[in-house]
Amino acid sequence: MVPEICKKPWKFAVQPFRIVNRLYYVGNASVSSYLIDSGDGLILLDTGYPQTLYLLLESIRRLGFDPDDIKLVIHSHGHYDHIGGTRAIKELTGARAAMGEPDARMIVESPELTWAPEYGLEFYEAFETELPLTDGQVIEMGHVTVRCVHTPGHTDGCFSFFFDILWDDHVLTVGTFGGPGLNTLTDEYLARYGLPQTRRIQYLNSLERLRKERVDVFIGVHPDQNRTFRKLQRWAGLSNPFVDPAEWQRFLDLLERAARRLFSKSEVVRND
Ligand SMILES: [Zn+2]
Repeated sequence: MVPEICKKPWKFAVQPFRIVNRLYYVGNASVSSYLIDSGDGLILLDTGYPQTLYLLLESIRRLGFDPDDIKLVIHSHGHYDHIGGTRAIKELTGARAAMGEPDARMIVESPELTWAPEYGLEFYEAFETELPLTDGQVIEMGHVTVRCVHTPGHTDGCFSFFFDILWDDHVLTVGTFGGPGLNTLTDEYLARYGLPQTRRIQYLNSLERLRKERVDVFIGVHPDQNRTFRKLQRWAGLSNPFVDPAEWQRFLDLLERAARRLFSKSEVVRND
């Protein structure tokens, strides 16, 4: 089924806003995109669907930034709803692309794995990834240093990102998990594309690894993961609801419970 957002993207438009210093929400009501102002060029994290590209560019402009200043587009993983705008942004601005090396290959060699077929769509927007990421890689630009951690499972090349930002004289660590979705780990999906069961082990290992990270500001790759709009609604006064050092572990707990529930129901795993 073609998702509603690809048919009527204007219904998913939201106002962009600043989360903390240098970090802005420029996504839509369904998929997150973040803009990081490094002081020496803009970094964009995820580009949404191809159909929502105009909303993304408009959000960047409304915040007073020029899309031409985007120097780097970083991707959580190589799925249609996170990489859809990248090809056009690269062509418009000359930005470079960074993505986990396995997903950089996947979007070119196996576009059927971008989840486009599940949306009833074709993926036409493959692009070259100038910066194929490997585990532990560090990206430095201006005042921002992004640490890239390989957290496979949802796809082979999912990456999670961590960086420090100053807020009210405190240094806060911002973190995101590049691939929380369990939709690619069902029996049906793995069987459809002949993918190995070991992806489930990888997913659980990724959760384990992420638990070791301390995160003050958790940003989801979809806004519902960190309740973006609920926080925005109740943001009044001085206390910033996006600063919540307990939320990261709560989110990982939730995912682990859901993953174990899904995997325990699996016939394939039981028969192994
Ligand atoms: Zn995905």
